[in-house]
Amino acid sequence: MKIRILRGTNQIGGSSVIITTQNAKIVMDFGSELNDNPQKLEVDGLTSGKSDIDTVFFSHNHGDHVGLIDTINNDIPIYMGKTSLELLKMFAERTKERQYTLKTLDRVKTFEKKEKIVIKDIVVTPYFVDHSAFDAYMFLVEAEGKKILYTGDFRDHGFIGKGFEPVLQNHVGKVDAVICEGTTLNRDDSKTLTEMELQREIGKVINSNKYVFVMCASTNIFRIEGICSAVKDGKCKLSDKYQSGIINYIKENYKDVSYLYCNSLSEYNENDKDKYEKYGFVMFIRQGKYFKKIMDEYKDAKIIYSMWHGYLDKKNGDDRETLRDFFGNREIIELHTSGHATKGAIKKLIDITSPNHVIPIHTEAKKKFRELAGDKLLLANDNEDISI
Ligand SMILES: [Zn+2]
Ligand SMILES: [Zn+2]
Repeated sequence: MKIRILRGTNQIGGSSVIITTQNAKIVMDFGSELNDNPQKLEVDGLTSGKSDIDTVFFSHNHGDHVGLIDTINNDIPIYMGKTSLELLKMFAERTKERQYTLKTLDRVKTFEKKEKIVIKDIVVTPYFVDHSAFDAYMFLVEAEGKKILYTGDFRDHGFIGKGFEPVLQNHVGKVDAVICEGTTLNRDDSKTLTEMELQREIGKVINSNKYVFVMCASTNIFRIEGICSAVKDGKCKLSDKYQSGIINYIKENYKDVSYLYCNSLSEYNENDKDKYEKYGFVMFIRQGKYFKKIMDEYKDAKIIYSMWHGYLDKKNGDDRETLRDFFGNREIIELHTSGHATKGAIKKLIDITSPNHVIPIHTEAKKKFRELAGDKLLLANDNEDISI
């Protein structure tokens, strides 16, 4: 088997990997770069020319993994998780197809966790993982007597992180190579909060203040559900139509899986101000005029910022406004924990899967894998062929 990382050996975001066997060629993720000047990826046989890719698999629906889906040749089959796809469709409808067209999304096929998908001489098995995007998967790729694990983005400190080790032990087992994300390797993770600890901290702020706005990624379902579950009974849980639609969709489809998914959000309504005055509210916000107007009406409300600190100074939207500009001079309380694997989680993954090769991706610090992988570390560059 041959592995070629198209992008991601020296950067976080914009990942894509091609795996080639005697008879088949598949792609894992095809994402947008996270920087201010994202470059597309032109790949003959994938985005132009006669198609020679059998299937593209998406690990989850973050833009840095799925962002270039619309540039894939129309005749190449695409797979992703069912809920990932539904959430992308909601996003496409809200943003009037700015990034993803429904035409592309309508032809995406979905898989179930642990379903074995056969692509000629390759078998791909998706395993559900904990990440800041809901419905995220690792892929086990088996062919020619070899096993490769592509981790996508993952962690073990979220609500469903306890499933991480058993899945690796009981289903994945020993592999020949792991293509592993290393987002946090140049960060100090000695104090990474678990999602549960974070839930408690945010809950304290919400329950001791009448009005609280929370900014977090609209697809960070675990975070939003965790926060909603921490709110004392009676307080209103609000957002706009889009965000409420997401949480209500999750309730509809996952309420039998866990009590965590039984929350509802309501759309903010001017006519309900008396109710908000009486019971208080927590409202999930995003950058933009709609939320700005409401925030201006509640000047004393607390604002919790629950995303990566680095996004505060990133220019967003058509008017290139940063989040810091959006918040103006209002005080923000930063409460966040990473959606990515700590060094401890990566070490566990390497220990359990015992790979011959550890190939870093989705990292700006690939050499730091040395302390976790020792002489199994295989440092690659973008577009380089690695034979396994
Ligand atoms: Zn990512
Ligand atoms: Zn991600």
